[in-house]
Amino acid sequence: MNIHRVGVVGAGTMGNGIAHVFARSGYRVVLCDLEPKFLERAQQNIAKNLDREAAKGKLSEQEKKAALQRIELATEPDKLAGCDFIVEAVIEKFEIKEEIFRHLDKICRPEVILSSNTSSISITRLAACTQRPDKIVGMHFFNPVPVMKLVEIVRGLDTSEQTLQTVRGLALKLQKSPVEVKDAPGFVSNRVLMPLLNEAMYAVMEGVAAPEAVDEIFKLGMAHPMGPLALADFIGLDVCLDIMRVLQEGFGDPKYRPCPLLVKMVEGGRLGKKSGHGFYQY
Ligand code: NAD
Repeated sequence: MNIHRVGVVGAGTMGNGIAHVFARSGYRVVLCDLEPKFLERAQQNIAKNLDREAAKGKLSEQEKKAALQRIELATEPDKLAGCDFIVEAVIEKFEIKEEIFRHLDKICRPEVILSSNTSSISITRLAACTQRPDKIVGMHFFNPVPVMKLVEIVRGLDTSEQTLQTVRGLALKLQKSPVEVKDAPGFVSNRVLMPLLNEAMYAVMEGVAAPEAVDEIFKLGMAHPMGPLALADFIGLDVCLDIMRVLQEGFGDPKYRPCPLLVKMVEGGRLGKKSGHGFYQY
């Protein structure tokens, strides 16, 4: 099937980046969120990020305008009915994603692939909510989407080879590098990364070192471009907590327990960069 129109559900940190890269690569995009204010914020972010790319000479003024014009905003999920491919990027809660997949399964043509940008939730479990489990797949982008090359492609129990090939091809058209993994809690990226971030939070909670010191150790000693606490702030502390809970539940191993400091910060509304306050002030 030819893919021209791509639906992106959720216009937050990831959804606006995903809409950006599809539109920049010539696809028409329907970007859907619950309220106009979330869509307006996403559109502003996309415009700002396209400006940045234009300033670096990566695209012309005209290409930038055309990319923005290819993005249609929608608060009504039924607007996704005519799309040829979907990426779901709403918050990391199974119940919310489940409802969206059930609805998309009803309104989208049977041949349409429904992908999820989930960081950790089982693709097989999402597939079981639909009548098209062979067309459900993980398309896991990284933040910031316009910059990061990796797309982790997650194969559920019933995902077909044809679906994987289509998603691989799409990732390449977006000038990304796809890497395929099987379905398991946190896949590979977050199964390895999140426990590192969580452990760094324990070090801060126990007073072993301040966030700046922990981050300096990883930047200078391990050549990480960003320390684990700055990275956690950047990802969103609520997102980190949700992923730790999926790992804890999925593996049933206490080594994945979320750091109590992380839980407390999320309860207090300190979500990292997006709320202006996390381990650092923004
Ligand atoms: P976010 O909180 O920034 O954005 C989520 C958006 O979804 C919000 O704008 C919210 O209004 C919208 N939403 C919620 N319910 C909806 C519904 N029913 N219909 C339409 N929109 C709805 O979250 P995010 O950081 O963009 O994460 C989105 C997904 O991407 C999650 O599954 C997360 O695990 C994954 N992810 C996040 C990162 C990261 O660094 N933040 C990286 C890779 C993957």
